[in-house]
Amino acid sequence: MARIFNFNAGPSTLPLSALEKCQAELLDYQGCGMSVMEISHRSGEYDGIHEGAKALFRELFGIPDNYKILFLGGGASTQFAMTAMNFIPKGGSADYIITGAWSKKALKEATIIADAKVAASSEDKNFSYIPGQHSLQLDPNAAFVHITSNNTISGTQWQTFPDVNGKPLIADMSSDILSKKVDVSKFALLYAGAQKNLGPAGVTVVILRDDFAATANKGLPTMLSYGTHISKDSLFNTPPVFPIYMMKLVLEWVKEQGGLDAIETTNKQKADLLYDTIDESDGFYRGTVEKDSRSWMNVTLRLPAEDLEKEFIEKAKDQGLGGLKGHRSVGGIRVSMYNAMPLQGIEKLVDFMKSFKAAH
Ligand SMILES: *Cc1c(COP(=O)(O)O)cnc(C)c1O
Repeated sequence: MARIFNFNAGPSTLPLSALEKCQAELLDYQGCGMSVMEISHRSGEYDGIHEGAKALFRELFGIPDNYKILFLGGGASTQFAMTAMNFIPKGGSADYIITGAWSKKALKEATIIADAKVAASSEDKNFSYIPGQHSLQLDPNAAFVHITSNNTISGTQWQTFPDVNGKPLIADMSSDILSKKVDVSKFALLYAGAQKNLGPAGVTVVILRDDFAATANKGLPTMLSYGTHISKDSLFNTPPVFPIYMMKLVLEWVKEQGGLDAIETTNKQKADLLYDTIDESDGFYRGTVEKDSRSWMNVTLRLPAEDLEKEFIEKAKDQGLGGLKGHRSVGGIRVSMYNAMPLQGIEKLVDFMKSFKAAH
């Protein structure tokens, strides 16, 4: 077996122990004679998975009791519309802070449904920074403020979350959820597609505060109303059973690592090592974002020429370092290093970067 260090941005690398556990119980889940893919979502076996995943999530992420955890289908992209449909009242509007391609998509969906305003944007400099507090133009009548906590494509991340004057804050945390400690009580709602830090694609986690959920618009299509999923504990229809099961295995791995404290420590080590290598390369490797906005999850960089970047990606692949091509919309190199990427992967990558630079 030859597993590579997989730097793909999403779907992305998963902890080996979670994959092995899945493999070991694939044909016969805990003695029931069926795989998890074949059991009923109304069965006792599945109930253990569903409740177990929720309990682990609450414990590891420090989710207060007055928040619900939902496991939905449709990806983070469906949440762009659902948040707007549920929480912008008739005739009202919401504020969006635009820090990359995903925030733009969230805004676009909201404008189909209601009035949505840009409270700040870093598009003027190619999304290379996170707007400062002073630049926010918050509308006192906005129903909520929406942010993208980590910008998967451009490589920036909020270091401290904005002060939004007590407005409900909604965050798309798809690419940095569970990568470090977060004060969940600062948010009215947060959501994340699983395929970066939590598991395989197919399940989207939504965490929302009870009193905020109670303000949701009525009369929405059943599946697009948070109230439906809250009242049925995400079991109104068939939930993505297998992705939820895999997510539970990933959460168990997080706990084995020592929880979020340990995960955060390792993620910081990984980021420091890679950014130091970039900064100490005499300009051969050039980070594309401002230093105080750098992401711990997605590191974007350029080499002196495009053909060098091509060669870099090919040679890295030959050494078992895969998925380093930048997003097709921005080019260059992108190193996605979610929780499941071990420190050894970054060590091997920076060794490769140093020898590649020396050879050129
Ligand atoms: C990947 C990603 C998405 C899209 O998620 P889907 O589950 O594919 O809809 C949205 N937002 C961010 C920040 C992402 O990284």
